[in-house]
Amino acid sequence: MEKRIDGRTGLYALFGTPVGHSGSPAMYNFCFQHDGINAAYMAFDVNVDDMEQVMKAVKLFNIRGGNFTMPVKNIASQLCDEITPAARLVGACNVFVNKDGRICGDVTDGKGFIKNLQVNDVDVKGKKLVVLGAGGAATAVQVSLALEGAAEIAIFNREDEFYPRAEETARKLQKECPAVNVTVTKLEDSEKLAEAIKGCDILVNATSVGMKPLDGQSLIDTSLLRKDLIVADTVYSPEKTRMILEAEAAGCKAAIGGKGMLLWQGALNYEFYTGKEMPVEEYQKYQAEQAAK
Ligand code: NAD
Repeated sequence: MEKRIDGRTGLYALFGTPVGHSGSPAMYNFCFQHDGINAAYMAFDVNVDDMEQVMKAVKLFNIRGGNFTMPVKNIASQLCDEITPAARLVGACNVFVNKDGRICGDVTDGKGFIKNLQVNDVDVKGKKLVVLGAGGAATAVQVSLALEGAAEIAIFNREDEFYPRAEETARKLQKECPAVNVTVTKLEDSEKLAEAIKGCDILVNATSVGMKPLDGQSLIDTSLLRKDLIVADTVYSPEKTRMILEAEAAGCKAAIGGKGMLLWQGALNYEFYTGKEMPVEEYQKYQAEQAAK
C-alpha cells in the first residue's frame, strides 16, 4: 500500500460513526489498486454535528468522493451542493463525488437492491410489490422501485415510530411518481397482508427481522409462500434468513437474499465517484482468498 501513496494520490473517504468495522476501505483500496487508480480510501469517525466542517474539509482537501453512513446520511443530503431525485425523495445520501468543488450526492441502497434483482433475472417494471418496512433501507427500496416503474407498492409496517415515515414516503411518491399506486397498511392487519401477498409478484422484507437479534424470525406465514412468488430480503447477515429459507423450501420462483444488494450498492458507489465499473468478480475472488487464509 505505502508504495502507492505519492504527492498526487487522491483521497476518498467514508464519514459516519462507528466506522471501524466498515469493509469499505478494504474493498475500495483493493479496487483502486486493481484499476491502477492513484487514490486511497480512509474512514473518518464523525457525528452529525461535525458535518458542516466535514463538507468544508472535503472541498479544502479536494477529497474526490466517498460515502456517508449512519448517522450522517440524512444531514449529508441537506449539505450536498446537488443531490439526485432518489436522494431527495429518500432524504438521505450515502455516496458523493466532488466535481470541481461541488459536492454531488446520491443514495444507492435502493438501486443496489434493484440491481441485485436484475442479476437474478427479476425486473420490477410494471410489477406489484409488497414491501415490509419503513426505515432507512425500506424507504430507499420503495423510492427506487417507484423510480424504476413498479406498478404497485404496498407498504406494511408495524405501528411503531417508523410508521409515519411510510405515510410520508407514500405522500411523496404519489406526488412525484403518480403512475405508481402506493398504499400503507399496518403490519398487524394480517388479513390485509395476506390479501396483498396473494395479489403481488414480489415480496420484500426490508425490516430488521431476520437479522440478529431477530434472526430465526420471519414476518411471513409459510402458507403465503407460493410457487409463482418472488421473495427478496434486504437482510444479509445471515446470508439466508428464515424467510429466504422458507421461500426456497416452498419452491418460490426466486428467493433472493440481501448480500447482493450490499455488494451492488458498493459497486454503484464506485461507479458514481470513479466513473468506472467496479471489478466485482476480482474483488469477490480476493475476498474468498482472504477468508480461506
Ligand atoms: P431501520 O432501523 O431504519 O428500520 C427498521 C425497520 O424494521 C422498521 O421498519 C421497523 O418498523 C422494522 N422492525 C424492527 N423490528 C421489527 C419487528 N420486531 N417486527 C416488525 N418490524 C420490525 O433499519 P434499516 O437501516 O432500514 O435496516 C433494515 C434492515 O435492512 C437491516 O436488517 C439491515 O441489515 C438491512 N440493510 C441491508 C442493506 C444491504 O445492502 N443489503 C442495506 C441497508 C440495510
